[in-house]
Amino acid sequence: MAVPQNRVTSSKRNMRRSHDALSPSSYAECPNCGELRRPHHVCGSCGHYAGREVVSMVEDVDLDEAS
Ligand SMILES: [Zn+2]
Repeated sequence: MAVPQNRVTSSKRNMRRSHDALSPSSYAECPNCGELRRPHHVCGSCGHYAGREVVSMVEDVDLDEAS
């Protein structure tokens, strides 16, 4: 089994970990409904993207409804 030849000092370990921080996810305001949405994604509350509705939002879906 491979074994580290030298001890990694706390300074070197912390320097390596200096790039490990997570950045907060970005968001943008939906121009249609004003909700916060992820950039380049369909709005989850109104289904609009690029100024038009691409996903129709249904208020209630009755799964037991016989159609
Ligand atoms: Zn929206």
